[in-house]
Amino acid sequence: MTETYHNYVDGEWVAADTGETFTVHNPADRSDIVGEFQQSGTADAEAAVEAAAGASTAWADTPGPERGRVLRATGQNLADRKDELTETLVREEGKARPEAAGEVQRAIDIFAYYGAKASDLGGTVKASSSENTRLYTVNEPLGVAGLITPWNYPVAIPAWKIAPALATGNTIVFKPASQAPNVSRKLVECLDEAGLPDGVLNYVTGPGSEVGKTFSTHEAVDAVSFTGSSAVGDTVGDQAQETGKRIQLEMGGKNPAVVMPSADVDEAVDIAASGAFGVTGQACTATSRAIVHEDIYDEFVEGVVAAAEAIEVGPGLDGAEMGPQVSESELDSTLEYVDIGVDEGATLETGGGEVDAGDGFFVEPAVFSDVEPDMRIAQEEIFGPVLAVIPVGSYEEAVEVANGVRYGLSASIVTQDLSEANQFVGDSESGVVKVNEKTTGLELHVPFGGMKDSSSETYREQGDAGLDFYTISKTVYMN
Ligand code: NAP
Repeated sequence: MTETYHNYVDGEWVAADTGETFTVHNPADRSDIVGEFQQSGTADAEAAVEAAAGASTAWADTPGPERGRVLRATGQNLADRKDELTETLVREEGKARPEAAGEVQRAIDIFAYYGAKASDLGGTVKASSSENTRLYTVNEPLGVAGLITPWNYPVAIPAWKIAPALATGNTIVFKPASQAPNVSRKLVECLDEAGLPDGVLNYVTGPGSEVGKTFSTHEAVDAVSFTGSSAVGDTVGDQAQETGKRIQLEMGGKNPAVVMPSADVDEAVDIAASGAFGVTGQACTATSRAIVHEDIYDEFVEGVVAAAEAIEVGPGLDGAEMGPQVSESELDSTLEYVDIGVDEGATLETGGGEVDAGDGFFVEPAVFSDVEPDMRIAQEEIFGPVLAVIPVGSYEEAVEVANGVRYGLSASIVTQDLSEANQFVGDSESGVVKVNEKTTGLELHVPFGGMKDSSSETYREQGDAGLDFYTISKTVYMN
């Protein structure tokens, strides 16, 4: 029996006004139906905005420590259901089990982190030049936050938006990606069971072009935080700005790992391969380019090909190391990029074909060598397990190639030369820079965001920076 799941609006689980649903399948086995979800329309999204606006004053007036208690209880509820949520995530999005468990743990940690922060969000007291004046700032919530999230981290990304928005006293309308709405529905259950008041968070599934559009254009929404592709992000940003909202857009990447001659080649191979093929290459911070000095190029290519060939591809629920792509269209897009790379004259060293591992969207991890920096496989976000290895003759050339794309999300350098590492930190046009570490993997208490077309560059997410987006400060002169 296929389960039908509902929207969560004003504290109630409700069917969409449209009377329609859409089906979510397991990407590792298309005959396995995850569930039917509400195909909501504009009226459903508007009802959610009204509920959030109605709950706004009371939640803003709720003391920070009480908001924090709800967040910490949510984290505990997630922890109590960790195994179930991990399984849900693998089944709807396709990650390998340890990757999914890590993502659920991240969501637990985010709620604990912002749950603790919620008590400390008052503002600051400053000395005044006037004897009788008490000078201080207060941080106030913005009102209603519209949150729009992608499918590739379907519980961690909602968590890193929802938790700081709630901690700072905002109410929320939230639209998960249609590919993977179930694990975030369970997150909403955990918030509900933690005692979140009615209307404070509203979860609505359905097409971005209706639900997401309403959340990014409705007059009663004060801020929009979007994570997804650059193409959609640009539209969302334009829509939101036209209606005067604060925006935060985190978008695509084409992340480089630069490998210099002083590098330990085995370490460089580990860094590039895990960054490229982890989570099936479906990470915004995935390593999709290895920019390798010619002195160690052949050795590096040999190592990374061996690493790709050692990966076992299959269903995450059966314990495979690398799961499927999330959908047929994502699989087709990766296969098309493999063809493009071959047509452009790069050498396909390994992989790039479909894998017969059941009725799912499986692809072999692929490595291209002899890649020129201006080829499409070296410029465009593929969002699949494809690594383009580009030879360079110097540090200067490596930096030029690393920066020579429209994106700037995460970049890594592998080197034993400290001054080269320091120079790269300054030279890299990228919001995250790593030395001797893979481009993927983030710590939750430091800012995260991109440069260039990877980000609106307005406000960072995560850590204290994640709180700034959801608040506005007021300066008080109390004589
Ligand atoms: P996407 O297609 O851009 O969708 C993202 C979200 O936007 C989904 O919820 C989608 O709804 C919604 N949407 C679509 N059209 C919309 C519209 N006109 N107005 C408002 N919302 C709309 O991205 P995706 O395929 O889910 O995710 C993959 C992309 O996300 C990659 O480019 C990746 O690099 C990026 N990403 C970036 C980060 C980061 O932090 N920088 C992190 C993770 C992923 P539907 O699902 O219903 O279409």
